[in-house]
Amino acid sequence: MSPSRSNIETRFNALLNAAVDAIIIIESDGMIESINPAAEKMFGYKPGELIGKNVSMLMPEPYSGQHDQYLQNYHHTGKAKIIGIGREAQAKRRNGQIFPIDLSVGEIIEGDERRFIGIIRDITVRKEAQAEARDTREKLAHITRLSTMGEMASGIAHEINQPLAAIAAYAQACRRMITVKDADLEKISSVLDKINAQAQRAGEVIRRLRTFFKKRKSEHVRSDLNELIRDSVDLNHADTRVLDHPVILELVDNLPPVSVDPVQIQQVVLNLLRNAIDAMENKAGKPVIISTRQHDDDFLEIVVADHGDGIDEQTALSLFNPFFSTKKSGMGMGLPISQSIVNSHGGQLWYQPNELGSAFHFVLPVAAPQQQTTHSQENLNEP
Ligand code: ADP
Repeated sequence: MSPSRSNIETRFNALLNAAVDAIIIIESDGMIESINPAAEKMFGYKPGELIGKNVSMLMPEPYSGQHDQYLQNYHHTGKAKIIGIGREAQAKRRNGQIFPIDLSVGEIIEGDERRFIGIIRDITVRKEAQAEARDTREKLAHITRLSTMGEMASGIAHEINQPLAAIAAYAQACRRMITVKDADLEKISSVLDKINAQAQRAGEVIRRLRTFFKKRKSEHVRSDLNELIRDSVDLNHADTRVLDHPVILELVDNLPPVSVDPVQIQQVVLNLLRNAIDAMENKAGKPVIISTRQHDDDFLEIVVADHGDGIDEQTALSLFNPFFSTKKSGMGMGLPISQSIVNSHGGQLWYQPNELGSAFHFVLPVAAPQQQTTHSQENLNEP
C-alpha cells in the first residue's frame, strides 16, 4: 500500500525538522513557503517568522536586490545558473552578519506550479580553517626563506661586495684621472658609466633578495614559468657552492602562462636546486639540469635533475615528512614546504629516480585564458 498524502507530509516534515542543514522552500515569486528549524536558527529568526517573507532578505546586497529579477529571468528563459549544480554563495543573518554558505537548489514542479528548494550549509568554520592553513603556510614559507638567507649569508655578502669593490677601484681611478692636467673627460665619463653600472648591479642584487625574503601575503599573478626559473637561478648565484656546479637550463619556449605566486614558486625551484647541489658535494663540475615542458593540455612540468648518488628506497619514503633530513645542519623543511606550495597552486610535486642521480618533478596548472570583455560580477545567489 502506498503512503497517503498526509503520511508523506508527516514524513517530509520529520525530515525537515531533523536536518542539520538549513532547508528553505520558496514559491515561484521568491516568497518563503516553508523553512526548517535549522534554517531559522542559522539565520537568527524566530520559528515561523520568515514564512511568507521574500527569501532575498536572507542574502546580502547586491544579490538581494536582484533576486526577484533573476527568478523572473529563469521563468522566461528556463536557463538555470545554480539549480542542480550547487555552489558557494553568501548569506545574511538577521543581525546583518554576512557568512559563506554551500548552496544547492532543486526545483519542484507540480502541474503549473513551480517551487524551489534550497539546502544551505554554513561553511564559516571550513573557510576559517582554510584561511588559517593558508596563513600558516605563508608564515612557514617565510621562515624557511629566512633560514635559506642565513645559509646563504656569506654568499650574499660576496655578491654585494664584488660590485662595491669595483666601484671603489673605479672611483680611485677617476680621482687619479682628474688630478692630471688636461684630464681626458671622455675617459673619465666612461669610468663613471662603469661605476653607475656596478651600483645598478649591487642594487639589483639587493632588490632581488628583498623581494624574496620579505614577509608577504600570497598573491597570484600570470607569470612566465621560464622567467621565474631564470630568476631563481640568478638568486642562487649568492650560493658560493654553485661555482662548483653549472646549472643547465633546458627550457621549452612559448609555454603558456601560469597563474602563481612568483616568490613561492621561486622558493620551490631554489629549494630543489640547493638540494641538487647538496647531493653533489663530492662531484665538482657535475651540473644540475632544470627543464620545463608542457606536461599535458592543462599542466606545465618542471624537472630539477642532478648527478648525485640518488635516494635509497627507505629515505624516499620519508622525503616529504617535516623535519626529515639526512644532512648535518639540515632543517628538513625544504621538501615539505615546497610540496605544500605546489599543492596550494593546484599542482603536484614528486620524486623520481633517474639514471644519473635524482630528479624532482612538479606540475603547475596553465592559467585560465584571459577574459577579453569585463563582465559585471556574477550573482552567486541566482537560481
Ligand atoms: P634538508 O635539505 O634541510 O635536509 P629537505 O626537506 O629539502 O630538507 O630534504 C630532505 C632530505 O631529502 C634531505 O636531507 C636529503 O636526504 C633528501 N634529498 C632531497 N633532495 C635530494 C637530492 N636531490 N638528492 C638526494 N637526496 C635528496
